Amino acid sequence: MAERRSLEFRAKLNLSANSPLPGRVLARHLGIVIISPEQVPGLSANDLKLLTEDCKWWSAGLLKSEKGTLILLNTSHNPARQESNIMHEIAHEDCGHEPVGFYQQPGCPFPLRSFDASHEGEAEYLGACLQIPRDGLLWALKRRMTSAEIANYFGASEEMVRYRRNTTGVDAQLSRRPQTLLRA
Ligand SMILES: [Zn+2]
Repeated sequence: MAERRSLEFRAKLNLSANSPLPGRVLARHLGIVIISPEQVPGLSANDLKLLTEDCKWWSAGLLKSEKGTLILLNTSHNPARQESNIMHEIAHEDCGHEPVGFYQQPGCPFPLRSFDASHEGEAEYLGACLQIPRDGLLWALKRRMTSAEIANYFGASEEMVRYRRNTTGVDAQLSRRPQTLLRA
């Protein structure tokens, strides 16, 4: 299901299964607006400092406004982490997860939606599939790309590539291929 979704989105955007899909491109396609703390309207200098300097651990949060769905993204993280955080929040939205509550991010003037543990797991898995589809991972490995090269290609972290290699079983699948095919 998650794998299929990842390919469906790529197809809608005229991308192949092997193509990187930047989170911002998918968000735009879905009408989701991504904002950085600096873009939060009416934020005081003090609250902005809280969000961007004093409290660095937070990743992203989903919120609904009259303008639609927004993702507040911590843009101080490295690009690969931002990609995974965007995809994670898009996954919550795509799965139609209902928040179980709200949490107050220090410095953030509005509450962000929080989800239950099973929905967190689901969003993590779908988010990872959206970043690196199994078919794309297989394609890259057949081209003998290293994990670092795959990470760079998909705009993902190497940790994400390892996670996908572990959860998809692609390495085992490739090692079962006949030697003649491997040389082809
Ligand atoms: Zn989440």
